[in-house]
Amino acid sequence: MNIHEYQARELFQKFGVASPLGKAASTPEEAATIVKELGAAQIVVKAQIHAGGRGKGTFSNGFKGGVHVCHTADEARHLAEQMLGHALITNQTGPDGRQVNKLLVAEAVDISRELYFAILFDRTICAPMIIASTEGGMDIEAVAEHSPEKIIRIPVDPLLGLQPYQTRKIAAALDLRGSLMTQATKLFLAIYRCFIESDCTLVEVNPLVVTPDGRLLALDAKFNFDDNALYRQSAVLAMRDKAEEDPREVAASEFNLNYIGLDGNIACLVNGAGLAMATMDIIQHCGGRPANFLDVGGGATKEQVSAAFQIILGDQAVKGIMVNIFGGIMDCDVIAHGIVDAARETALQIPLVVRLEGNNVDAGKKTLAASGLALQSASSMQDAAEKIVAAVHAA
Ligand code: GDP
Ligand code: MG
Repeated sequence: MNIHEYQARELFQKFGVASPLGKAASTPEEAATIVKELGAAQIVVKAQIHAGGRGKGTFSNGFKGGVHVCHTADEARHLAEQMLGHALITNQTGPDGRQVNKLLVAEAVDISRELYFAILFDRTICAPMIIASTEGGMDIEAVAEHSPEKIIRIPVDPLLGLQPYQTRKIAAALDLRGSLMTQATKLFLAIYRCFIESDCTLVEVNPLVVTPDGRLLALDAKFNFDDNALYRQSAVLAMRDKAEEDPREVAASEFNLNYIGLDGNIACLVNGAGLAMATMDIIQHCGGRPANFLDVGGGATKEQVSAAFQIILGDQAVKGIMVNIFGGIMDCDVIAHGIVDAARETALQIPLVVRLEGNNVDAGKKTLAASGLALQSASSMQDAAEKIVAAVHAA
């Protein structure tokens, strides 16, 4: 799960991470009111979407830039009029961009240096990893590619936590001396505590800035949370913005289905995450492209199978469906009935290939054959993948 920057700043405030004051606005009027409340000499107005690269982005109405510095309430109102309700296209959003429904209106600070600081969960070393660079502000991927020596990595022992000698080492690498080093230690430890206590998988501050009057502040923050820990993070869960999520994934989560939308055209419906991964691989191997990952789980009901079909067919790009079920706990006949019902309810028009194996498979195959539906049965995974790829290519 992700959150917006204005919510990230609320979290930062809670953990004592230094960040400029600001508030979210949903209308141009609210934006103007916040400017008056802040009473700051300079204001920054920032589009709130779950994607970075906003500064260099362009709106669907042609307006340039999702981050603007201004000085008066009128200017902020005018900026908000150009930004709210329009899609912002950045190098992270894809060509359609993301609709901007909220803006962060915050005190703008003067900047003398822009740095990069992130903590992420590194699955290779099974520990938090700190990534920092003097080259903040711009996109860190380009820095990693063109000048990798400017990025430092410090692994953190999860049992010991971040140690002061490590924060000093990072501060020194970022050329933060004297009072800035003291501030850096406090800030890094606070971000680390926020990362651990909020069950984050990523906290990225870009830029972390040094102001001309010698303050160190987190100006932009991106968070990712571990979805499996959300049950114990009710405050975080309350920040969820479903409008920012793939509507297919939101629908799937309501039926307890594990669904991830992809950009191919062959939908898969599978029981078990491992089998679902293997199914996507074999579709690709046979020259097709999977439209999704979909695991209906070990004990799916007829209703869940039906919901899964609806979600799959809601995707306009889908040109064929491959069902791959290995019945262990799952009764193949239950799946077969689910498929038949769903195909009838949705008046299925596209090729459907079904491979069933395992528990009660004979009854399942009979149900499919007796349905009179124009589906193809497959004898193995390979056979199923070849059949669906051929059917989609022929269509
Ligand atoms: P991103 O483009 O989505 O990563 O959005 P950022 O929040 O990082 O903003 C982009 C850039 O706008 C930053 O790198 C800064 O250069 C600039 N910026 C953001 N906030 C301020 C501010 O308070 N004052 C000034 N002077 N510039 C800012
Ligand atoms: Mg940024």
